[in-house]
Amino acid sequence: MARHQGRLNPQDLKEIDLVVLVQSLVDEYKILAQQLNLNFIAHLPPTPVKLKADSDLLTQALKNLLDNACKYTVSGDTVTLKVSTKLRRAFIEIEDNGIGIPAEDLPHIFERFYRVDTARSRQTGGFGLGLAIAQQIIEAHGGQITVESVLEKGTKFQICLSLF
Ligand code: ATP
Ligand code: MG
Repeated sequence: MARHQGRLNPQDLKEIDLVVLVQSLVDEYKILAQQLNLNFIAHLPPTPVKLKADSDLLTQALKNLLDNACKYTVSGDTVTLKVSTKLRRAFIEIEDNGIGIPAEDLPHIFERFYRVDTARSRQTGGFGLGLAIAQQIIEAHGGQITVESVLEKGTKFQICLSLF
């Protein structure tokens, strides 16, 4: 975490195709979703989406969000991963119709070690670090991460990154 305080150095960023990066996550999470009896839907653009990124870190950030989407849902729920572009910006949305986050917890979920401690249906461990790490990675790329959630309805995270 400390190593990536602030922005990443330009020499650490490579030109990547976000569609290729996300497609490999789709392949991986389709299998996991199937094992958990979740529906997994992906919407990717048909053309490359070029941006400058550290692909390992960006992959880690997206995995933290996808892991949560799969973890805080129950059998039969749906996880959707969508990539789009608009006005020189790329958007990545990770949405689930799982257990949702109480409104009073929402302002705190990006804090280190913060976990919502209601009786959560898929009893899984965790340190409460996944979102703090994801946010730090996205902000180190000059991007933003936002969340919308309704308890018992679901959660949507949106990442915004500048295009190359
Ligand atoms: P870790 O990711 O370190 O294994 P964690 O999943 O508890 O542990 P975060 O990923 O930082 O930690 O998430 C913080 C808290 O936000 C979680 O404990 C959970 O209560 C809530 N949360 C995160 N994503 C979702 C989601 N998609 N749906 C419902 N609750 C969520
Ligand atoms: Mg997590």
